[in-house]
Amino acid sequence: MEKKEFKAESKRLLEMMINSIYSQREIFLRELISNASDAIDKIYYKALTDDNLSFDQEGYYIKVTADKESRTLKISDSGIGMTKEELETNLGTIAKSGSLAFKSENELKDGHDIIGQFGVGFYSAFMVADVVTVISKALGSDVAYKWESNGTDGYTIEPCEKETVGTEILLKIKENTEDDNYDEYLEEYGLKSIIKKYSDFIRYPIKMDVTSRRPKEGSEDEFEDFAEEQTINSMVPIWRKNKSELTAEDYEKFYAEKHYGFDKPAKHIHINVDGAVRYNAILYIPEKTPFDFYSPDYEKGLELYSNGVLIMNKCADLLPDFFSFVKGMVDSDDLSLNISREMLQHDRQLKLIAKNIGKKIKSELQSLLKNDRETYEKFYQSFGRQLKFGVYNDFGANKETLQDLLMFHSSKEKKLVTLDEYVSRMPEDQKYIYYASGESMERIDKLPQTELVAEKGYEILYFTDDIDEFAIKMLMNYKEKEFKSVSSGDLGIESGEEEKASDEATNESKDLFDAMKNILSDKVKVVKASKRLKSHPVCLTTEGEVTIEMEKILKAMPNNQHVQAEKVLEINTNHEVFQSLKAAFESDKEKLSLYTNLLYNQALLIEGLPIQDPVEFTNDMCKIMV
Ligand code: ADP
Ligand code: MG
Repeated sequence: MEKKEFKAESKRLLEMMINSIYSQREIFLRELISNASDAIDKIYYKALTDDNLSFDQEGYYIKVTADKESRTLKISDSGIGMTKEELETNLGTIAKSGSLAFKSENELKDGHDIIGQFGVGFYSAFMVADVVTVISKALGSDVAYKWESNGTDGYTIEPCEKETVGTEILLKIKENTEDDNYDEYLEEYGLKSIIKKYSDFIRYPIKMDVTSRRPKEGSEDEFEDFAEEQTINSMVPIWRKNKSELTAEDYEKFYAEKHYGFDKPAKHIHINVDGAVRYNAILYIPEKTPFDFYSPDYEKGLELYSNGVLIMNKCADLLPDFFSFVKGMVDSDDLSLNISREMLQHDRQLKLIAKNIGKKIKSELQSLLKNDRETYEKFYQSFGRQLKFGVYNDFGANKETLQDLLMFHSSKEKKLVTLDEYVSRMPEDQKYIYYASGESMERIDKLPQTELVAEKGYEILYFTDDIDEFAIKMLMNYKEKEFKSVSSGDLGIESGEEEKASDEATNESKDLFDAMKNILSDKVKVVKASKRLKSHPVCLTTEGEVTIEMEKILKAMPNNQHVQAEKVLEINTNHEVFQSLKAAFESDKEKLSLYTNLLYNQALLIEGLPIQDPVEFTNDMCKIMV
């Protein structure tokens, strides 16, 4: 038996590795299975050029066997095996990848299927094992060798018996300690779930002896355990399949199996890209909002696979925030992984993929909107808010991307409309896109401010979500049409007569309005005759950028900045109440004060704003009754 030290630098590297590279211990199984799969691939590639060699998929497998009693876990494969020299160079030198060498020696342009490249994965076995034994017989060789190491003192190599070509990796699983439990690597259930999680799409069957129960023969109430060999992995990644081979059910099944959500997806997107960057992806737009979606706990991201092996559970960089609701996976062979294969080294490819995916999601949503309105509206009810946040965030950087996906309810049919639909049916004389903010459609309908716009026959968008007005402020305009609140100072509705009449009325009653303004002091900026009121006596509008709705929302925020809307009290000079105001102004200043306060408080109520002094308000009401 020969005994050899690990090369000096290897010793340190190994310690480092075992303790720091991998964030999760269970990864060792992914690494050993990936190696086994690579070893089978190598026979496959050899067979392509060697006529004496045939490759019959059937005969190739990976097998995982656990024995609790002896605390051993065995991973065996029918792959290409290793010669004595290969055992030494590939396993005796850390960071030496026989697989990487194989790829270049064989000029495998398409050899991207082979997973190994760093030459460290094997050592992850020492995270869970005290001793690792490798028994291997290389293809074309008559002798087998046994390599053994405890991970610190070097390794031994000696000849041994092995009938078939291939490799067996035997792990002596560590004893449990107070903090660490290693038993799951010996238990059927634990092993099965690790295989499913990381290696489900390895192309060769990963077999395990699984115990099941069955009724004992000849007995009605007795059962017996029996071992049965099962293939644990699904093998064929559905994302590598042709879209035409797959049905909607296949995609739904994958969605459920992967636990992307408990709902059914509203839509799936299957992408196969074979260009500057190669990747496959299956993405889903869920139908229902996950319960934690609008909470800080929600983590966006897609599963990331490299060569069918899971690298990352939630790769956040693949999704922009405004599409954070998208679920699914991406598989690419072109990623530069870091040494633990848990993270990406530099993200040029990833950026390209992310950009590509973003575009694709947008165009799919657009086609959903165009071709399946009902489903789109359902989607929008669940995630529209996120799109609106997307318009608002990053100072509007993504507004171009998102504006065509937005929808609002409108006064025309009380249905959701897109901005494009709104603009394309605007009458010729309409200059602005009008909107009204409020708690609900019913409330907005009752707002006095909507009267003139509605009478003009112009459509009004209902902003009932607190983000709406902020998002639209960021958008500023759509197809060169500016957005305008029905409560804004200048509605831009040209109507010579009304305008003139109200200006005249304001001038005529200037003293009255000034007196009212004095009574209200800094509660309002100005009191004036209204151009927009038809049947209501009074309303509050605003001048400047901040509307009353925005003031309400900003007030409710934790870091209340005390932003105030510049409020204007508008009086309907055609209303009977105006005559009473005039009369009071002439003869009874106290009454004028009473009326003014009442009207102001009414306007607040209509806007859904709190009345500063409700007791005074009810006393005032009583005063006019007696
Ligand atoms: P990598 O897979 O990144 O190359 P590893 O440390 O996982 O690095 O493995 C080192 C090398 O050992 C592999 O490149 C391969 O040449 C060899 N090897 C490991 N496991 C096996 C196996 N089951 N069969 C054949 N060769 C193997
Ligand atoms: Mg490897």
